[in-house]
Amino acid sequence: MQTIEKFNFAGRKPFVRVDFNVPLDENFNITDDTRIRAALPTLKKILSDGGSPIIASHMGRPKKNPDSKYSLKSILPRVSELLGIEVKFAPDCVGEEAVKLAAALKPGEALMLENLRFYAEEEGKPRGLAEDATDEEKAAAKKAIKESQKEFTKKLASLADCYVNDAFGTAHRAHASTALIAEYFDTDNKMFGYLMEKEVDAVQKVMSDINRPFTAIMGGSKVSSKIEIIENLLTKVDNLIIAGGMTYTFTKALGGKIGNSICENDKLDLALELLEKAKKNGVNMVLAVDAKIADDFSNDAKTQFVPVGEIPDGWEGLDIGPETEKKFADVIKKSKTILWNGPTGVFEFENFTHGTRAVGEAIVEATKNGAFSLVGGGDSVAAVNKFGIADKVSYVSTGGGALLEAIEGRTLPGIAAIRGY
Ligand code: AMP
Repeated sequence: MQTIEKFNFAGRKPFVRVDFNVPLDENFNITDDTRIRAALPTLKKILSDGGSPIIASHMGRPKKNPDSKYSLKSILPRVSELLGIEVKFAPDCVGEEAVKLAAALKPGEALMLENLRFYAEEEGKPRGLAEDATDEEKAAAKKAIKESQKEFTKKLASLADCYVNDAFGTAHRAHASTALIAEYFDTDNKMFGYLMEKEVDAVQKVMSDINRPFTAIMGGSKVSSKIEIIENLLTKVDNLIIAGGMTYTFTKALGGKIGNSICENDKLDLALELLEKAKKNGVNMVLAVDAKIADDFSNDAKTQFVPVGEIPDGWEGLDIGPETEKKFADVIKKSKTILWNGPTGVFEFENFTHGTRAVGEAIVEATKNGAFSLVGGGDSVAAVNKFGIADKVSYVSTGGGALLEAIEGRTLPGIAAIRGY
């Protein structure tokens, strides 16, 4: 397989798919440029070799073309500043002007294309279908967009002479620029960027090169969105810590009283099945024993600590309690491989951050003692940043959905398109 480190970009024009889907405020100022910074090593290597990167990304969910709210022009000054060169801009990602600008690029110059998702063809999903469209109309629209997607992909590919995918955040999507485009380049001329390589290695390390005990901490709000990962993890981990809103579905399934806590009543049987499966597989399921409960879903609510299955009506669990913190930390500190996804409570409220922080700190300590710790998924990344411990864990993934799908054991189209599997 080709690698970015080996590849000499001198005189070459790579199509570089990055994930510059950064948050903007109402004045189109970037509020967090982490994603741009994450792609810098790749872009800088290309430039310093004497190559000319054609930078392509999506931003937000535009529904038309053009859609100024989602124009990548807003982020052009920041990209230029971080790269230390004046990056050129193509106001359309395909078409005559893009072709001209790409052709005119000199070694060491860079071009950024306008938002790929201005075209429905990028995602390959039909746009503007009437609400009452018949199944036939839907099928016809789908077929039409798949056809025009081929043309669109070909046009993107024709701008460049090699392909670099550094957009792990969209690697789980078989979109034109993340996967389909790879077909137009032979094996020697397509590769992962440095960020993508690091992400793929981190997932690999957690899923195959496991030092035991292996502990996964699954938090967040719902069981339903994490079922497949939990099932997959039950064949891999030694300890599975269930935290966050999911706690109460398990607690209720086991006959506990959960008051007004978040709960998926249609998932009670499933929760019991997961517990059963864990037992069969010899996995230690670690559940909360106490909760910090509140009389309202608000930071200023009245609070108290109670056993997790004894929550009175009118109260809801918004974080784990001190006994649970200790129980979780004991398991985490003895672990050698750790995967963390999702907070233990509503950590957006200052008064309910304690449990999430305690888990973060236990992971930091385990890491100091030689464990490999991977933190991923939007909210856990926000949490480690908030607590200032991002550089004290082994790896913080930039991928949310992509990371979880990789851990579920699925093949990510963006990875398969380059690696072949
Ligand atoms: P997810 O996107 O599934 O990882 O869920 C993250 C969200 O779960 C965060 O916004 C938390 O506020 C929320 N969450 C965690 N614990 C609870 C809880 N006990 N009750 C309600 N929401 C929760």
